[in-house]
Amino acid sequence: MFHLLPPLLGYAPFLVPLPVAWAVWAVLRWRAETVSRAALSAAQDAGLDQPPSLHPVINPKLCIGCGACTFACPEGAVLGLINGKAELVEPAACIGHGACKTACPTGAIDLVFGTETRGFDIPLVTPDFESTVPGLFIAGELGGMGLIANAIEQGRQAVTAIGKLDGIGRKDRYDLVIIGAGPAGFAASLAAKNLKLNAVTLEQDTLGGTVAHYPRNKIVMTQPAHLPLYGKVTFRRVRKETLLAVWQKVARKTGVRIRYNEQVHSITRGNGVFEVISSKGSYATRSVLLAVGRRGTPRTLGVPGEELPKVLYRLGDASQYRGRRVLVVGGGDSALEAALDLAQQAGTRVTLCHRSASFSRAKPESRRRLQAAELAKIVMVLRETTITTIKPDSVQLTCQGMAFRLANDIVIICAGGVLPAALLASAGVDIETKYGTA
Ligand SMILES: Cc1cc2nc3c(=O)[nH]c(=O)nc-3n(C[C@H](O)[C@H](O)[C@H](O)COP(=O)(O)OP(=O)(O)OC[C@H]3O[C@@H](n4cnc5c(N)ncnc54)[C@H](O)[C@@H]3O)c2cc1C
Ligand code: SF4
Repeated sequence: MFHLLPPLLGYAPFLVPLPVAWAVWAVLRWRAETVSRAALSAAQDAGLDQPPSLHPVINPKLCIGCGACTFACPEGAVLGLINGKAELVEPAACIGHGACKTACPTGAIDLVFGTETRGFDIPLVTPDFESTVPGLFIAGELGGMGLIANAIEQGRQAVTAIGKLDGIGRKDRYDLVIIGAGPAGFAASLAAKNLKLNAVTLEQDTLGGTVAHYPRNKIVMTQPAHLPLYGKVTFRRVRKETLLAVWQKVARKTGVRIRYNEQVHSITRGNGVFEVISSKGSYATRSVLLAVGRRGTPRTLGVPGEELPKVLYRLGDASQYRGRRVLVVGGGDSALEAALDLAQQAGTRVTLCHRSASFSRAKPESRRRLQAAELAKIVMVLRETTITTIKPDSVQLTCQGMAFRLANDIVIICAGGVLPAALLASAGVDIETKYGTA
């Protein structure tokens, strides 16, 4: 036996670092798993445990815990390792890039819609994006497939099909009404102009759809896409502000017809003609393209005075409220982020009002920042408080049965969204509900 020692000693310089490397790897792995467990538990506590769209499911029998998927996801720590297996630890942050599936060396990942407990409605459409209602087309995320490049491509293809419908080109009605000016609706609007269709786009908010609402300076990961009348957009990684600026420039240069701040309430069809009813009027049209995404329309509170121009449903640029008295209503991340952004503006007096006693729907990091801002007295937080009336120079609030008035210039309501199900129902579109299937 001792005769083996001399040759083994020759390998000592190589063998000694091995246990050290293994120990370092084990510590790093343990720390990463601790972070993943904490992220999953925070997501569950905040009720953010359901993925909004296409997402991975991991087969634990095939997963070897290599972690390739966790590094591949462009959105950051959406996937993590727990007990040596990959898991979706921030489900609500998954937007369906699918990079994890491509990265997995063992085929352990499938991409699916919905979960066992929450169904995911997908409208039935033909390969040309026509729904079960003839003449009504659906493009973009509403059709199930997320991501900017997919939305652009689908918007363009749907309009190509619409251009071939019979009855296009009549003077007594529109050829096409496009609903939504996110990436799908914007590409469709350009394609319609390119084909010289008599078309109009109705957008309840502003150009860019969900992209306009990403956090400030978010890096957008996207595939190259072809924008009609513009050409190929080759960005792969770009700040959201840069991407929006390009789209705004294209909209200006082409003079594409988009009516902003106009919300569509219903779509009905009779004798092959659609009637689209919006907040500002009604439109008779041969075809409709629904490109409304899945984020829905902002939830209103239904209180007197909500129609005043000082009431908004998103923050936009916080600097425009410098020196104003702003009330933010809501308890989720968007409300907390709005209040904290406003608190950075010189002279802005910010009050955050929430109907519950805690902010359990917000992420721990947002809650921590709010607590610090409250302690520093730069945000006044009113818990268990509801807004009852909005007036031009004040708001009326109620806290545990006690009514009081607060002087106020601007109200920003961040109360979530109403999903587009009602719009689909009014149009009579057939949908399929998926519970964790492709
Ligand atoms: C936080 C986050 C990060 C993301 N990051 C990326 C990324 O890096 N890369 C990527 O490719 N994708 C990303 N996505 C996904 C991508 O933004 C969406 O898939 C894409 O915006 C879908 O485009 P869309 O045109 O179908 O819908 P949307 O962008 O949602 O646009 C729909 C438009 O319709 C309007 N609308 C809705 N209802 C009505 C109505 N009744 N009347 C009038 N107008 C209406 C809305 O106001 C909105 O402007 C991200 C998503 C989120 C939430
Ligand atoms: S890439 Fe595949 S095998 Fe590796 S951790 Fe992710 S799911 Fe498991």
